[in-house]
Amino acid sequence: MNPTERWRFGGRAVLLAILLTALPAAAAAEASAATATAAADGASQLALRAAARAAIYRENPFLIAAVSRVGGFGNVASNAIANRMYSRDFAPALADAAAKLVVEPQGPGTWLLRFPWVNVAVFETSAGLVLVDAGYAPAGPALRDALRKLSTQRVHTVIYTHHHIDHMLGTWALLEAGERPEIIATAELLDEVDRDLQSRELTSRLNNQTLTDFPRSTAELPMPTRTFRGRLELVIGQDRFVLTHAPGETADQLWVSVPTRGVVVSADYFQPFLPNAGNGKRRQRYVTSWAAALRDMAALRPLRVLPMHGPALVGTEEVERRFTSQARMLESIARQTLAALNSGTRKYDAANGVSLPVELASSADAAELYVTPRDIARTVAQEYTGWWNELPSEWSPVSRATQAREIVALAGGVEPLLLRMEALRTSDPPLACHLADWVWLAAPDDPRVLRGATAAWLERLRRLPVPTQEAVEYVEHLVTLRLQLDALETTRAAVPLSPR
Ligand SMILES: [Zn+2]
Repeated sequence: MNPTERWRFGGRAVLLAILLTALPAAAAAEASAATATAAADGASQLALRAAARAAIYRENPFLIAAVSRVGGFGNVASNAIANRMYSRDFAPALADAAAKLVVEPQGPGTWLLRFPWVNVAVFETSAGLVLVDAGYAPAGPALRDALRKLSTQRVHTVIYTHHHIDHMLGTWALLEAGERPEIIATAELLDEVDRDLQSRELTSRLNNQTLTDFPRSTAELPMPTRTFRGRLELVIGQDRFVLTHAPGETADQLWVSVPTRGVVVSADYFQPFLPNAGNGKRRQRYVTSWAAALRDMAALRPLRVLPMHGPALVGTEEVERRFTSQARMLESIARQTLAALNSGTRKYDAANGVSLPVELASSADAAELYVTPRDIARTVAQEYTGWWNELPSEWSPVSRATQAREIVALAGGVEPLLLRMEALRTSDPPLACHLADWVWLAAPDDPRVLRGATAAWLERLRRLPVPTQEAVEYVEHLVTLRLQLDALETTRAAVPLSPR
């Protein structure tokens, strides 16, 4: 499976892969349209950012690889869908979901529907179809059509593994087609959806989704018709479905065992790389509970596991080995983090000494494509402590800009810092980027600062490969720097020359 896709961009074939990244979702045409739009109304910050981002990728093609490490998150990617997961009518996204869907038989009456980015599990029972998850909104019509080809049965039940937008929104098209399934999720899902709606703009931004698509209330979402806490056993036709709630990637997540078929649907607990258990842009994740869920699933010795991202796992040995390995990684990170915190290592430093067990570190399931062990360690620390990072002055800090101006003044202005940054850029890129932040916070209106910071961040991305999520944030900072520089140059150009 090719985890990325190619798209023509400024005459150059570029590799793109962007689950929840901010590479422009649509292609070059959209980027130039964005420029035109931005120029026309002068108001669209998003359009300006899209145009700046496109220009940065065009000028620095190596960045495409830097942000594409995770590919399609175990599936194929889709630029058309990446930033439009709430949309029911963005035609390119609907078309791409249909075109790229691969239906994989997984035993009698059992299928894994592999959409770009995400899967849907389908079970045909004598009472009707049972779905685990329904994909993002643009997957809805393709899901409806695929089910009609697979079976004459109606949809009896849809189970949501968790509230994330790529898992539950596709149900809309089934409802619109007249299906009336029971929709089941944990009671905790309702709280999570509520948090997303309350933080609409923030959540949209952090997920790189288009705000105009974002629902304003649960009335616009295919919400559960039935919720439960803990564990729920369903008998549907001749099959049993056992739903188990276990906080992991989200507080509301569940996994599903279908003992009548020897199948476990593992939701997002298993991902075919170091799991997304340390996400700096998402709400709390529950690392030890996540590991326990992996062990609980493996203990059932399923013949087959259907994950929501990546290919199915077949064979009890395979499942046992891979699930246990990932559980051990997560447990080890949690143990190391807690040991550091307990021994007095301050929270701002506790993640830095954490590493994967050596015997597991080289496996594909440990690959740092999306997050690092340090990211996971920070999540663990967050689960046990409050917001303070344990640096005394940061309980009640003065603003970062004030701190930065003081530091820059002590250094004798921006020049010495810029010189030092340049010296460090190749020998110690992360340290150079710390200086880049200080000098940028102190003097964001100085074009030398903006150019120097840009050079530092580009060099860091060039020299130190980082997982997708981290790389994307650095690129977004480059976008900010570029827009600031553009604004300065526009202002300067607009000032008439003073008469001599
Ligand atoms: Zn997911």
